[in-house]
Amino acid sequence: MLRAAPVRFATALDALHTVFGYDAFRGDQAEIIDQVAGGGDAVVLMPTGGGKSLCYQIPALLREGTGVVVSPLIALMHDQVDALVRNGVRAGYLNSSQSAAERAQVERAYLAGELDLLYLAPERLNSEAVKRFLERGTIALFAIDEAHCVAQWGHDFRPDYLALSELAERWPGVPRIALTATATEATHREITERLSLGGARHFVASFDRPNIQYRIAPKNEVRKQLLQFIRAEGVDGEGRPAAGIVYALSRASTEKIAAFLVQNGIDAMPYHAGLDADVRRRTQERFLREDGVVVVATIAFGMGIDKPDVRFVAHVDLPKSVEGYYQETGRAGRDGLPSTAWLAYGLHDVVQQRRMIDESPGDLAHRRRLSAHLDAMLALCETVQCRRQNLLAYFGQRSDPCGNCDTCLEPPAAWDGTVPAQKLLSTIVRLERERRQRYGAGHLIDILRGKRTPRVDQYGHDSLSTWGIGDDLSDQQWRGIVRQLLAQGLLQSHGEYGVLGLTEASGGVLAGERTVQLRTEPERAPRAQAKRAA
Ligand code: ADP
Ligand code: ZN
Repeated sequence: MLRAAPVRFATALDALHTVFGYDAFRGDQAEIIDQVAGGGDAVVLMPTGGGKSLCYQIPALLREGTGVVVSPLIALMHDQVDALVRNGVRAGYLNSSQSAAERAQVERAYLAGELDLLYLAPERLNSEAVKRFLERGTIALFAIDEAHCVAQWGHDFRPDYLALSELAERWPGVPRIALTATATEATHREITERLSLGGARHFVASFDRPNIQYRIAPKNEVRKQLLQFIRAEGVDGEGRPAAGIVYALSRASTEKIAAFLVQNGIDAMPYHAGLDADVRRRTQERFLREDGVVVVATIAFGMGIDKPDVRFVAHVDLPKSVEGYYQETGRAGRDGLPSTAWLAYGLHDVVQQRRMIDESPGDLAHRRRLSAHLDAMLALCETVQCRRQNLLAYFGQRSDPCGNCDTCLEPPAAWDGTVPAQKLLSTIVRLERERRQRYGAGHLIDILRGKRTPRVDQYGHDSLSTWGIGDDLSDQQWRGIVRQLLAQGLLQSHGEYGVLGLTEASGGVLAGERTVQLRTEPERAPRAQAKRAA
């Protein structure tokens, strides 16, 4: 596994040619490598597929000693190290999945100065014994991958990362490079502070992925919508079925959706952490090696899967944050060819996620954070402006309308929904006043549409003054209105049953002080558009 003869390179370009077989650096790579190889610190924000790995691998080859790489993805270390070793790099890792003998071999190589790169899980650096061990060798640099995990405000905080703040004091002379593919300005600041990278150079690449077309559709019959989408757009340049990933929230739904797709002639397979390791490995291998395989997965799938020709990423459930959405959709089109990110979401998603937040363990601050993440995701879903502009603005980057997202291609019409919103909100007010009771969307819509149900009879809700005043709109239109009011913060949903209540902002609507603009939504599932950027 380890090669004895040390390899030294005159220049970064030399290492790029000889070890990796590439002709030229991309984007900021050359400058980043210069900075770190020269002993300076760096913070690198670069989208997935941008080529972050070389930014620490090459400096590690150029400097004396071993580059220590902190990465939370233990499952990937093995693959990463294998790939490096195949390229003739002396690389190894230390993690809990190893035998004592394997570990001893890597440790010996490190101490003998025979390792170019050493991968470690962050919790290793929490251990005093591991730190003492590292002190006995020569460290060329520290690379902190997935650096957004240090940010408590971020979407993927890992407490083990906090210990990395110590690296600066303990190894003051060793350059450090922190890298991430998702960071808002707030997260970027947190990375800089917590990792003591105040003196670092910052390299912020554009987060735009211009070849990805973003589409977000209201959900009605999600499986049919998904099937229609895959048939129309899940194809490569020649019209053959293309590889794609469908993300769903639960393990059960990945299996059901995969089965449904298979019944309809799509080569689909489920993937989630509950499946046998063997099954998962085979699924992953088929996805990587064969053409046109669709994997229906929970977010457990995709981390570190380097498949360049994924033509689409579809979400049938709402992601929990814009960061998550960006990371997951970013797995499409790494080859730069036209690809699609398609998301369907509905009222149920909003209610379900609010409930999960209400019930989540952790303190109030934690729930607020989750709530803020969800709100940003909802704002992206409901925007009548360019999706890409909204997405990039979230990461603090300005851009013009893109011409390659659904709102740019088919600008949504807006309508004045003030009156229906008032009808709905005043129904809630009346019910709360009379019985001090709250209800979910279904029952409220029944009342507004004057639908006689056992529950309506039981409570005598047909005597409410708002009974039947909303029968000019369909059930589906009402559900769309509820969903949009939730997203706009004019309604809130609570608890297991998603009962609806007013917010501070609702008062203004009821008092006629503010109007409500809503997106016009198609009655039926919209036909998937085969429009793609040339
Ligand atoms: P990231 O970690 O930013 O997602 P990687 O480091 O995995 O990206 O790189 C993405 C892909 O691009 C890899 O297949 C890598 O080998 C390739 N790559 C990186 N830099 C270059 C380059 N300068 N020239 C050609 N290919 C590159
Ligand atoms: Zn756009």
